[in-house]
Amino acid sequence: MRIAVLSGKGGTGKTLVSVNLAAVADGSTYIDCDIEEPNGHLFFKPEILDVAEVTVGIPQVDRDLCDGCRQCVEFCRFNALAYTTELMVFDEICHSCGGCGLVCPQNALTEVSKSIGQVRKGKSERVTVYTGQLNIGEASGVPIIKKLLDEDYSGASGLTIIDSPPGSACNVMETVEGADYCILVAEPTLFGVHNFSMVHELVELFGKPLGAVLNKCLDGEENPAELFCADKGIKVLARIPFDPDLGRINSNAEIVVRKDGKYRELFSTLLETVLREAVLRETGHSGEAAAESREAEPAGDPQCKPATEGGES
Ligand code: SF4
Ligand code: SF4
Repeated sequence: MRIAVLSGKGGTGKTLVSVNLAAVADGSTYIDCDIEEPNGHLFFKPEILDVAEVTVGIPQVDRDLCDGCRQCVEFCRFNALAYTTELMVFDEICHSCGGCGLVCPQNALTEVSKSIGQVRKGKSERVTVYTGQLNIGEASGVPIIKKLLDEDYSGASGLTIIDSPPGSACNVMETVEGADYCILVAEPTLFGVHNFSMVHELVELFGKPLGAVLNKCLDGEENPAELFCADKGIKVLARIPFDPDLGRINSNAEIVVRKDGKYRELFSTLLETVLREAVLRETGHSGEAAAESREAEPAGDPQCKPATEGGES
């Protein structure tokens, strides 16, 4: 089963949720698809077992064959080609679609291989850790995400946690497409809710089952993310309190479920809830799942109740 963890923007706690869910499961696989800024490995500190380069094809022109017709320049939607006195290729913005080579009437374009980043595999206790890393300045990391998601994970326990890139761009879509369930992490700010609404819309477009984890909850304070979830009928799977102790453990790059029993219980309950929801959805018991969703208490500090339950507003 593949669980994708998403957020509308960086800094909401997506990696906190991903890393701790993977750590609390028995023998899981953690995939860091946040390839521009992967940081899950800072927590797991895995022993590296394998490193693979990821390459793409970039057009290369044979100047003896090129007659300067410019059909390739007109074709390229990414403006990665220009013709002055000769054809120039801007490989940093080329998306390796291969189209220019197909339209060239002189067969003057061939592909050369270029490395855009790496995929590293490692082990941290019983968690297998995959990390994608995009080289600085590259236009698209989609090939790295595809390689990460195409790995054969059949040897693992069956549970794979995907730490998605933040936002709702095309590299996020790759992680949503192959997921069995999506966890959306939200922070209690209006700005955060705006970004959360965009990633929620994206997951709904793919028709994936989803639930929310509310991070940085303040007891008794109105939480815009909570109100958004209530309005859209999104199940709240867990509420993580705004807790300086949690912040300290996390900022020291330590895995909180390996340090604190209270959070071990919170993330274990969250994982059980997600697995139950995903299985019910898969077996077509969505009505039953919805009923359970309304009845079930989300994981989290019982002190960290939504403001509406606290009688304040
Ligand atoms: S491969 Fe595609 S993106 Fe790259 S230069 Fe050719 S047409 Fe443009
Ligand atoms: S389409 Fe081919 S021949 Fe025409 S400018 Fe491009 S590389 Fe040269």
